[in-house]
Amino acid sequence: MKRDYYDLLGVTKTSSQDEIKRAYRNLARKFHPDVNKESGAAEKFKEINEAYQVLSDPNKRSQYDYFGQTGGPGAGGFGGGAQGFDFGENFQGFGEFTDLFDVFFGRERGGRRAGPERGEDLRYDLRITLEDAARGIEKELEVAHYSACSTCHGTGAKPGSSPVRCSNCGGSGQVRRNQRTILGSFTQVVPCPTCRGAGEVIQSACPDCKGSGREKKRHKVKVKVPAGIDSGYRLRVAGAGNAGNKGGPPGDLYVFISVESHPLFNRDGANLYYRTSISFIQAILGDEIQVPTLEGQTTFKIPPGTQPSTNFKLKEKGIPHLGRRERGDLYVLVEIQIPSKISKEQEELLKKFRNA
Ligand SMILES: [Zn+2]
Ligand SMILES: [Zn+2]
Repeated sequence: MKRDYYDLLGVTKTSSQDEIKRAYRNLARKFHPDVNKESGAAEKFKEINEAYQVLSDPNKRSQYDYFGQTGGPGAGGFGGGAQGFDFGENFQGFGEFTDLFDVFFGRERGGRRAGPERGEDLRYDLRITLEDAARGIEKELEVAHYSACSTCHGTGAKPGSSPVRCSNCGGSGQVRRNQRTILGSFTQVVPCPTCRGAGEVIQSACPDCKGSGREKKRHKVKVKVPAGIDSGYRLRVAGAGNAGNKGGPPGDLYVFISVESHPLFNRDGANLYYRTSISFIQAILGDEIQVPTLEGQTTFKIPPGTQPSTNFKLKEKGIPHLGRRERGDLYVLVEIQIPSKISKEQEELLKKFRNA
């Protein structure tokens, strides 16, 4: 049994987004594995993150409030392979993520890394129809990105020449720096400023990429959008982002999904909602009506004596649960129409009915 997300962050159902964010930041700083070496801290950090990913997203939060779960990872079990599945923890953009990343890993990022830089991650916004979201679909996206320069094959050096070992750091990409602070002086290892951590320098730059080792290109990327996806999720295509500088590894491509609203159905998770109306005669006597589904029209039997605002459930006519075979249901809300005008003859018949 999972712990309640609100309890985990020490907030309540009425807490504002700001309060949730503040609570999360405090806890994340406290339990971050780099800071907190106690056993269980890493596990706690993971739980806090999971809770925040849900509660910081208004859609996921209301879904969680309603169902007590969100159908995110853990429920689905996606991932693996080149295309990962990601619960849109930073659907608003990369701002929050980068921000936190710097808080926790800033020093490490600047200090330890040597060699060519990894390429940037890219974002692609993909809109799909509800039908495609229900079926799942494979899309070919055309993405403009930086790829390795075809003239120098990403080295940044003029063809025929090659980079030479950096004389400042002797090829290690790192230099030691003494720093004096109020706590005393200490030695810090930082990336070599001459070669920017690469360990080698280019003497004659490639004329086509001016030494960066990359060029702008359009390329085609295939993504498999899994059945049951909803707005707010993102798909990660590993290695489809920008090429790194000077032969560094590529970044990833994040495909942010939004599902268009449908003219007939409202969606809530895996369930669909459809609203229709019948006459009071149909309600009293029962009838067969046509109901649309994602697979086309289906006949549905209204039982005699149907009450106003009855919800009928068409089992498994909804949308598949993400990553599972089961489908949600289609709810048909039946309203009953009362005629505002009737003929003299109808009135006589109704009076007869009343007196019967
Ligand atoms: Zn080049
Ligand atoms: Zn150097």
